[in-house]
Amino acid sequence: MSRFWSDTVKALQPYVPGEQPRISGLIKLNTNENPYPPSPAVHAAIAAANDTALRLYPDPQASALREGIARYYRVTPEQVFVGNGSDEVLGLAFVALLKHAAPLLFPDISYSFYPVYCGLYGISYRTVALTEDFRIAVADYRQPCGAIIFPNPNAPTGCLLPLADIEALLQAQPDVPVVIDEAYIDFGGASAVALIDRYPNLLVVQTLSKSRSLAGLRVGLALGHPQLIEALERVKNSFNSYVLDRPAQAGALAAFEDEAYFRQCRDAVIRSRECLSAGLQARGFSVLPSAANFVLVTHPLHDAVWLAARLRERAIVVRHLAQPRIKQYLRISIGTDGECTALLHALDAILNDKGANT
Ligand SMILES: *Cc1c(COP(=O)(O)O)cnc(C)c1O
Repeated sequence: MSRFWSDTVKALQPYVPGEQPRISGLIKLNTNENPYPPSPAVHAAIAAANDTALRLYPDPQASALREGIARYYRVTPEQVFVGNGSDEVLGLAFVALLKHAAPLLFPDISYSFYPVYCGLYGISYRTVALTEDFRIAVADYRQPCGAIIFPNPNAPTGCLLPLADIEALLQAQPDVPVVIDEAYIDFGGASAVALIDRYPNLLVVQTLSKSRSLAGLRVGLALGHPQLIEALERVKNSFNSYVLDRPAQAGALAAFEDEAYFRQCRDAVIRSRECLSAGLQARGFSVLPSAANFVLVTHPLHDAVWLAARLRERAIVVRHLAQPRIKQYLRISIGTDGECTALLHALDAILNDKGANT
């Protein structure tokens, strides 16, 4: 704290990202990155973009990328917004669409960045408790509010809400903006993009960080009615017009154009998820059913923080989230089959090491 800080900064409670430890040979299962590299076509496109044109500003509209995404989802480019990671897209959406006199609603267990944006922008919010089994009950969102946001699949639970439930919510709340954060939708759910033509209050946010192995490139997107997209553009152009650099625009477009590679990696992650879930259950963990590239797990006999510390000693990092209802849970990202096996072997060693218990 310094006397030079603005009152805004003094009051901030910033988001704490998962760590990126510099430990060699680390098995990194803490930030839901994809264990597979990006498509070779992405590397080629970025290499081609790394030429003398870097002298010039990038296209502020990212037209080629937005057109590519529009072709991919069979929508128009006017229904597509792109930003520097979906965290930025979400940040812009909080100002552009989610800030109203009535409170914003989101689940009590959800992406912990949402309350941070509310703090930054002075947005009033109310959390809605997940059910006992950690599900979103859309009926609980039928209450007066200014807007609604939640991830689907939810994070950090991994639980998927069927599209029919989202449509029921949109019908019940036609007069408030509804943002669905689909960071993990490719790993097992049906996207609400199918609904944007019918529901002008629906904004769907996605990222290339998880299912397209591009967390390091920072590209996110939003799909929705052109007027919602215009709202995002207006805020973006009041802050930074050039959010996506030339290599990012080129690489992201190439990622959407290599569908075969995308499916291959996604299917491998889904297979590993099922395998890891079974292996964890065989070792006494309860595993929430996940449609994402991570699982949220708890062991009835072992403290979650203690387990995470023992894994870390074995150079395996997983994420513990200090949220009240999930204090005894660990979120484990899906790695390669080799990484998942190494995790299970480490757990065998830890759980069989009696005496070293909690
Ligand atoms: C990972 C994640 C994001 C952010 O992704 P970036 O595009 O890398 O900024 C947004 N929402 C949820 C729920 C996430 O888990």
